[in-house]
Amino acid sequence: MATIIIHSNTLNFEQSKVIERAYGQNGKPTKIDNHFRIELDHRPDQKTLKELSEEIKIDINLLPEGFDGKEIKLVISDMDSTLISIECVDEIADYINVKPEVSAITEAAMRGELNFEDSLKKRVGLLKGLDTSALQYVYSDRLKLNPGAEKWVSGLHEQNIKFALVSGGFTFFTERLKQELGLDFARANVLGESNGELTGEVIGGIIGAQAKSDFLHELCEKLNITPNQVIAVGDGANDLLMMKEAGLSVAYHAKPKVQEQATTALNYSGLDAILDFTA
Ligand SMILES: [Mg+2]
Repeated sequence: MATIIIHSNTLNFEQSKVIERAYGQNGKPTKIDNHFRIELDHRPDQKTLKELSEEIKIDINLLPEGFDGKEIKLVISDMDSTLISIECVDEIADYINVKPEVSAITEAAMRGELNFEDSLKKRVGLLKGLDTSALQYVYSDRLKLNPGAEKWVSGLHEQNIKFALVSGGFTFFTERLKQELGLDFARANVLGESNGELTGEVIGGIIGAQAKSDFLHELCEKLNITPNQVIAVGDGANDLLMMKEAGLSVAYHAKPKVQEQATTALNYSGLDAILDFTA
């Protein structure tokens, strides 16, 4: 058995035709809550699903073998370019006109060409001497939630699923989002500050790929659940270790390398489409 999720609450005539052509009478989509599902007696290949998705411009995913959405108790998500639409460190850098330098380092790290921990130290070093009011400016003026974020978090809470935010960014932002959205857990890097200015250093251990994965396991222990009961969401190379551990992983508008390795991907939908997996 295989379950295909079509992340849309409507299918027009053309889209229905395309799906029917691919799966015929065996695969009639059934509407469940806000999406459609197809149950097949065999597992279709991922490549065909991807082509189908690109043709009808709707996200289509195959549930991992043995996955049970009703067992999910925790969602762990990346922040920058996942829960929110910006890379915080790039925006802080923009404030002092070092954005091109910092962005280039961010991009290389996200493509997996540069070790995340080293790249973070380099970028934070470039922020030395910055007035900390710049952080508040980025939070209030630049930081935007990605589409569907609020609906996603409240929908998970309705299902008694906890939400953990984990970020290679900074606690200044994760803690404010935790408050604002009512998130259950958050972890990120702590920026060094002295006399109202950034010191250019990160305090304590750096939250990179390994620390994100460790956080997932730590929360599993705390909640007395297994990693199979977790959905992990991210867009960058430093999310992959954490994503590999979870029962289901979502590459959210992600880099190709991340899409290849995640069990599912969203390229058209907002974050609330992740609720389709636990419906
Ligand atoms: Mg990210």
